[in-house]
Amino acid sequence: MSDTRHTRLLIIGSGPAGYTAGVYGARAMLEPLLIQGIQPGGQLTTTTEVENWPGNAEIQGPDLMVNMEAHAKAMGTEIVADYITSLDLSKRPFTAFADSGTTYTADALVLATGAQAKWIGLPSEEKYKGFGVSACATCDGFFYRGKEIVVIGGGNTAVEEALFLTNFASKVTLIHRRDELRAERILQDRLMKNEKIVPLWFHELDEVIGDDAPLGVTGVRVKDVRSGETQVIDCAGVFVAIGHAPASELVADKLETHMGGYVKTKPDSTATSIPGVFAAGDLTDHIYRQAVTSAGMGCMAALEAERFLAENEGDTVSEPLGYGAEVA
Ligand code: FAD
Ligand code: NAP
Repeated sequence: MSDTRHTRLLIIGSGPAGYTAGVYGARAMLEPLLIQGIQPGGQLTTTTEVENWPGNAEIQGPDLMVNMEAHAKAMGTEIVADYITSLDLSKRPFTAFADSGTTYTADALVLATGAQAKWIGLPSEEKYKGFGVSACATCDGFFYRGKEIVVIGGGNTAVEEALFLTNFASKVTLIHRRDELRAERILQDRLMKNEKIVPLWFHELDEVIGDDAPLGVTGVRVKDVRSGETQVIDCAGVFVAIGHAPASELVADKLETHMGGYVKTKPDSTATSIPGVFAAGDLTDHIYRQAVTSAGMGCMAALEAERFLAENEGDTVSEPLGYGAEVA
């Protein structure tokens, strides 16, 4: 059965950015409606300990997200289990078409669909995710003090992660499938000067090796892409840093994006290239990608949406809204 629901503020995404936008949007009396998507709670539901969320020296990721959902709900945000399949941003109210058949219309929109780390796709990688295999050095590096680890990738993220991980690890092997890094020259220089980092060129990850009880990584088997020869490297952790994919499919042809698909926002703002559409969290953030920064942007987006609605409430515009508007 299809129906249409109207809301002043529609929030798409239920990670830290979405739920925080819900808290602030509800407290601004906007009666927001928040669509959770297929991963209620977002990326943090895929991890265990979170040790850098202010106020909790340690909290399980899924617990933190249950708390955030409850908080947004308690403030008055309506949480809806649905998935948005397409958007019409060409006129206001904006329209969001959902998997359930429901059509949502909204005077203002907060996009908080996040980003997903790219994975290599090996069954052993999947098996040890959260138990020695990670895609977030900032989140998990702390657990590898004095241990040997490997980083996979050759872009900025891989090099930054490798450098960061030398704060904890005794040795970092950077495994890259070519002998040339994609990372910026300055990062490459830092990498080469760091005595804890050993690059291994022309190699790719073949298998993550580990124990079952307790589940944990003990090494990796890597393959020389030229000869096919394999070797085993002992390590306690594997950081896969082969890129992040922002979940911007819904708006890739509608909003300005940059840096490989991240939604571009005005400096010091969550405003996108379409007035009334705000973007927050990992969807816009190719640098920090943290829960706390996402939450901060969710707050900004709701406050900016409130201001936008105060200035534009009741306006209906029947042609594209400022697409290509100035976004520095
Ligand atoms: P996400 O958390 O990515 O949430 C996106 C939301 O959008 C999801 O709810 C999804 O269902 C929804 N969505 C997507 N598409 C649609 C759609 N079409 N319709 C409706 N909904 C949609 N950060 C830290 O600060 N500390 C940590 O310790 C930490 N550990 C991490 C561990 C792991 C394994 C990973 C993967 C990440 C970790 N991070 C950590 C990073 C942190 O999880 C992210 O920075 C944060 O979750 C981003 O929040 P977000 O709200 O932007 O998006
Ligand atoms: P990226 O630039 O796309 O680099 C991904 C790296 O992973 C590449 O070296 C690639 O190898 C490798 N790779 C991809 N798929 C692989 C696979 N299946 N197996 C093995 N290796 C694989 O991604 P990123 O480093 O995350 O950066 C994404 C964007 O964010 C970039 O625009 C980057 O500049 C930006 N960024 C900027 C900063 C900064 O400004 N400080 C920091 C982080 C990221 P090849 O090189 O062979 O393709």
